[in-house]
Amino acid sequence: MFYPFHFFSEGYFCPYMPLFISSLNSGSNGNCYYIGNQKEAVLIDAGISCAETKKRMERLGLSIAAVKAVFISHEHSDHINGVVTISKKYHIPVYITEGTLKNSGLKIDKKLIHYFQDTATITIGDLSIIPFKKSHDAADPHSFVISGDEVNVGVFTDIGYPGKELIHYFKICHAAFLETNYCEDMLEKGSYPKHLKKRISGKKGHLSNTQAFELVQKYKPRHLSHLILSHLSENNNDPELVKKLFELYDNSTAIVIASRYRETEVYQIDPKKGVKGLSRKNKPKAVYAQMTLFNS
Ligand SMILES: [Zn+2]
Ligand SMILES: [Zn+2]
Repeated sequence: MFYPFHFFSEGYFCPYMPLFISSLNSGSNGNCYYIGNQKEAVLIDAGISCAETKKRMERLGLSIAAVKAVFISHEHSDHINGVVTISKKYHIPVYITEGTLKNSGLKIDKKLIHYFQDTATITIGDLSIIPFKKSHDAADPHSFVISGDEVNVGVFTDIGYPGKELIHYFKICHAAFLETNYCEDMLEKGSYPKHLKKRISGKKGHLSNTQAFELVQKYKPRHLSHLILSHLSENNNDPELVKKLFELYDNSTAIVIASRYRETEVYQIDPKKGVKGLSRKNKPKAVYAQMTLFNS
C-alpha cells in the first residue's frame, strides 16, 4: 500500500501525520482545546484568557503561531472569554455561526470572522473540521470533529443528550474530548436550586457520567486510543470517581480527566493503537521525532 511520507524537521519521516491534542482548560470556568499536526493547529473554544492560553501552550512546548483558527462552539462565557483578545493579538481567524455571534456580544474584527454551517467541512491547511449541531441551551451550538490524514478527534462538550449525530461522529474518533459533567446522585443530593438541577440534567443541559459511560459502552470504536473526559462540574462530580468508572470498564483506551485548573499533557494520536502521552519534561519536538521512529 502506498503511504505519503511526511518528513519531520529533524529529518525523520512518518507514513502518516499524527495529531497532537491537549485540553488547556476544561470546565464551567473555561474551555479551550488544542488540536494540531506538525504544521498547524486549531483551538476549539477560547474560554480562558489569552495570556493564560499562551502560557499553558508554552509550558507544553506548543507555539501560538501554529494556531490558524479558533472555532467557537456556542456563546456561553466559559467558551468565549478569551476569543476577542487572542484573535486580535495574533490575527487568528474566528469560525463561528451567525446565530452564536449575534447572541455572544463579541466585538471581533470583521475581517477575522468566518461563518460555518452545520456539517459543512472547513479546511485549515492539512486539517479538516466538521461542525455538527448539538442539543444545548444556546442559540446555535455545535460540536466538532477535527481530522488530519487518517486521524479523527472529537470535541463533544455541553450536550444535553447523546443524539444520533454525536453517536455517528463518536464512532469515527481516534480520540475524543467527551463531557462527563455531573454525577446524577451528587447533583440530586446537592445544594443547587431545583430549576438549576433541572436545567443541567435536561435535554439542553450537560452530559452526566452515566450518559457518557453508556455512549462509550455502546459505541466506542476499537481505534479510540484516548478518551479525555471533560467539562467536569466542580460541585456535582468527582474526578477520581469518573476515572475509576471508565478505567474499570476498559483498559484498552487511555482515560484522562481534563482539569478545571491546568492543561493536560500533549497526546499524540495515531491512526492505529499503541499511542502514548508525551512527557512534559521533554521538549515536544524532540519527543515527536523519537515517537515517530517508534511508530514507523
Ligand atoms: Zn460550557
Ligand atoms: Zn454551555
